[in-house]
Parts: sequence; structure tokens; C-alpha cells
Amino acid sequence: MPAPPCSSCHAARAALRRPSSGCALCGPCFCTAFEAEVLHTVLAGRLLPPGAVVAVGASGGKDSTVLAHVLRELTPRLGISLRLVAVDEGIGGYRDAALAAVRRQAARWELPLTIVAYADLFGGWTMDAVARSTAGSGRSRSCCTFCGVLRRRALEEGARLVGATHIVTGHNADDMAETVLMNFLRGDVGRLARGGGLGSPGEGGALPRCRPLQFASQKEVVLYAHFRRLDYFSEECVYAPEAFRPNYSNT
Ligand code: SF4
Repeated sequence: MPAPPCSSCHAARAALRRPSSGCALCGPCFCTAFEAEVLHTVLAGRLLPPGAVVAVGASGGKDSTVLAHVLRELTPRLGISLRLVAVDEGIGGYRDAALAAVRRQAARWELPLTIVAYADLFGGWTMDAVARSTAGSGRSRSCCTFCGVLRRRALEEGARLVGATHIVTGHNADDMAETVLMNFLRGDVGRLARGGGLGSPGEGGALPRCRPLQFASQKEVVLYAHFRRLDYFSEECVYAPEAFRPNYSNT
């Protein structure tokens, strides 16, 4: 059966049916709608004021790649400027390839890129060194717990280094749902109570952070990357199989 016509332009054939609305759209109309929704998220939430210098936490993965691309498209309407900030955790066999993808993006999109390394910020400690030191101690499943804390700090340092006023990260709706579920399974009432906002306003002297893709499903993030032919790194971190996040459904 042939695909129905795009319900927006009525000219091209639909390439997908949106999970959220059931709307059948062609690739270009889907991308336009996706960008308009991110714009609405930013404007309605007053996340990034005109004149903001925005540090995009760039990992080379699909989420931060889509985030950087969409914000770059929206830059003239938002009146912001973008900087890419990447964190080198020191993970052999993984991060170098991911950073290569970030470098290609920075060159293609003509965005300034700064890379901050755990080894420089944390007295020579890399994630590989942390993993070695926790191996066999019964704490090996905590690699991502350490990394999450260090990464947040490193991104803050990198953002300050480039003169950013705001930080954005690529968390999507699936990530947010996972976080709620994890906190529920852990019985972490404090985090459950704090969650749900679009970001943090910058308490304790930290830069304000937000998640402009927070209402976009992972499926649509991947589809946007596909239709915009974005170049991103899709391999999993070598420590990801030990993480609680992808394993909670098996606990
Ligand atoms: Fe860090 Fe874990 Fe992410 Fe790897 S999977 S980069 S160790 S948080």
C-alpha cells in the first residue's frame, strides 16, 4: 500500500507517522515541525534569553548532535550564540572516536569547540583509572555514578572557560522517563520531588542548565538525525553495560 500524502505540505508522500500525534509527515515537514517544537520549548520555558552564550554539552552521540544542529538552525530567532564543549573522560577505545565526531561537527557547522579532560581537571584521574581502582572492590557497577558527577563538574568548567552563560544538554523524553523510573526503583524521594522541570536555574553559583529536547522522544531524535543526514557516533561506552540505567528493567 502506498504511503499517504504528507498531512502538512500535501505534496510529498509521508515518510513517518509521528508517535505523539499520529500525523503522517514527509521528512522535510517532520524536521520543520521538530525544530518548531524545540523553539517552543525554549521560548515557553524562557530557557535561553536573547544574548545568551550557550555551551552545548557535545558527546558526539545522537542527542547532543541533534541538539547542536537544531539550536544552530534556531540561533537567528533566539538571538543566542553557541559553543560546543566536549568532555574527554579518558575512556580508551571509546571516547577518541566520539571526540572525532564532535570535531567534524564543529568544523562543518563552524562552531567553536573546547575539549576538557578529566585527567587535567582531576589530578590525572581518568575514567579508565577510576574503573581499575574500583574493579574487584564490589563497586565496579558504580563507574557511571562516578562519571556522572565528574562529567557534570567538567562540563561546568568547560562552559566557564568559553564564557558561557547557560549550559544545554541533549537529554530526551526517554532519558527523562528512565530517570524517573530509576529514582522510583531506588526509592529516591528527594530526586523524584526535584525532577520534572526543564532544567536548573543555576543554584549555588552554577550556570543555569536546561534540556531543550526534553519533550522529544528518542525515536524522533533518531528520525531527525536521519532526515537531516547528521554525522554522529553511535557506539556504546565500554562501561555502559555495567550501568544501572540500561539494566533497571532486569533488576
Ligand atoms: Fe561515563 Fe558511564 Fe556514560 Fe561511560 S556510560 S561515559 S562511564 S556515564
